[in-house]
Amino acid sequence: AKSQGGDRFCFYNESMSDQADRRLELENQLRHAITRNEFVLNYQPVINLRNNQLVGVEVLLRWQNSELGNPGPDEFIHIAEHSGQIIAIGTWVLEQACQQVMTWSRAGFPALNVAVNISSKQFIDGDILASVDRALKQSGLPAAQLELEITEGLLLNDTPAIRDIFKQLKARGVHLSLDDFGTGYASLSYLKRYPFDTLKIDRSFVNDIDNCQDSITLTNAIIAMAHSFDMRVIAEGVENLNQRRILRERHCDMVQGYLYSPALPADQFLEWASRYGE
Ligand code: C2E
Ligand code: CA
Ligand code: CA
Ligand code: CA
Repeated sequence: AKSQGGDRFCFYNESMSDQADRRLELENQLRHAITRNEFVLNYQPVINLRNNQLVGVEVLLRWQNSELGNPGPDEFIHIAEHSGQIIAIGTWVLEQACQQVMTWSRAGFPALNVAVNISSKQFIDGDILASVDRALKQSGLPAAQLELEITEGLLLNDTPAIRDIFKQLKARGVHLSLDDFGTGYASLSYLKRYPFDTLKIDRSFVNDIDNCQDSITLTNAIIAMAHSFDMRVIAEGVENLNQRRILRERHCDMVQGYLYSPALPADQFLEWASRYGE
């Protein structure tokens, strides 16, 4: 289809129904995504459940490429991980996110924590410490306002090198959070062995807590265990008041979800935040 007369939308049709072709096309286009300014960061508010205050944001990456149908991170992140492109992309995300939050802060907005998703690849193959240092230095963001979200997958390669990186991040004052808790194979012993500050309950549990006693029991146990290890707990994917009430009764520390706001582009987030709590 591609060779038939230069229509650049052609390749999006039949041949792309082949998954391998689509994958290859995404990988090729990802190569130019940074230089063509196709990446945008969206910001989702994180709320302290005790006082309802806005305490931070989670940064979520968006790829604006209409020819490819604006692929979501669930589609393109793992391609970028396989190809190694995630290292350059991850560095870009860190730098942009820190800069954005400092821009708000300098404009008089209350200081926010900024949580950035970090791929295991960035720990294993990339120079995550150098990226973090550069992002903090360039932006002037205090290290204690930066939170790195890591999934259980990384901990499966439990190596001295990775433990050392964790230690050095902690020494800088950067916060570490364990993302998607409860969905992988993480053994509970990770919680003791790694210096996590925060545990994020996966939204699949939160989804069920307003109609499933087992999910409530499980959520209860996760919160109690996290607190006994001096970790804070964030519940993600909170969509209704009933879920929030249950989480508040169970002493969950923070929440995020569509009940408050989806992840928004920077300017819209600022508008949302200015109205919030009025
Ligand atoms: P995640 O870290 O678990 O991010 C939360 C996902 O849940 C986001 O999807 C968010 O938009 C969505 N979400 C938030 N609140 C709600 C809610 O109330 N209900 C429902 N149904 N969904 C909600 P998104 O933005 O599509 O991101 C998907 C995944 O892609 C993320 O999962 C994360 O693993 C990955 N990702 C996103 N941005 C980055 C990035 O910059 N770097 C890396 N390495 N991964 C990223
Ligand atoms: Ca996350
Ligand atoms: Ca998550
Ligand atoms: Ca996820």
